[in-house]
Amino acid sequence: MTDVDAVVIGARVAGLMCASEAGKLGRQVMLLDHARKLGEKIRISGGGHGNFTNLYTAPKAFLSANPHFCKSALCQYDQHDFISLVSKHKIAYHEKKLSQLFCDQSARG
Ligand SMILES: Cc1cc2nc3c(=O)[nH]c(=O)nc-3n(C[C@H](O)[C@H](O)[C@H](O)COP(=O)(O)OP(=O)(O)OC[C@H]3O[C@@H](n4cnc5c(N)ncnc54)[C@H](O)[C@@H]3O)c2cc1C
Repeated sequence: MTDVDAVVIGARVAGLMCASEAGKLGRQVMLLDHARKLGEKIRISGGGHGNFTNLYTAPKAFLSANPHFCKSALCQYDQHDFISLVSKHKIAYHEKKLSQLFCDQSARG
C-alpha cells in the first residue's frame, strides 16, 4: 500500500472537502468509498442543480445533540466561504425560495 498522510473514508460532500483541504496543505490523501459511483448524491441533489448552501445559514437552524458543534464548525467555515469557493471556480448560481442557492447549470457538469 502507498504511504499516505491521511485516509478519508467516505467520498461525498464531507470526505471530498476534507481530502481537498488536506491536499491543499500538501498532504498525501487516500480517499475511499464503497459506492460504485463517487459523489452521485451530489449530482442529484437540488433536483440536479446542487442546492449547495443557504444565504442565512446560522447555528440556530441546526438540530443536534450537541448544539455547540455547529457553532464551532461555522466559525471556521461558513456559507460565505463556500460561496467564495463557488465564485472562484466561476460556477454560476441563483437564489431560490428560503434563500437557498442552486447552481444554474446541472450539477452533473
Ligand atoms: C433526499 C435528500 C436530498 C438532499 N438534498 C440536498 C441538497 O439539495 N443540498 C444539500 O446540501 N444537501 C442535501 N441533502 C443532505 C445531504 O445529502 C447530506 O447533508 C450530505 O450528503 C452529507 O454528506 P456527508 O459527506 O457527510 O455524508 P454522506 O453523503 O452520507 O456520504 C458518506 C459517504 O461515505 C461512504 N461510506 C459510508 N460508510 C463507508 C464505509 N464503511 N466504507 C467506505 N465508504 C463508506 C458512503 O458510500 C458515502 O459515499 C439531501 C439529503 C437527502 C436524503
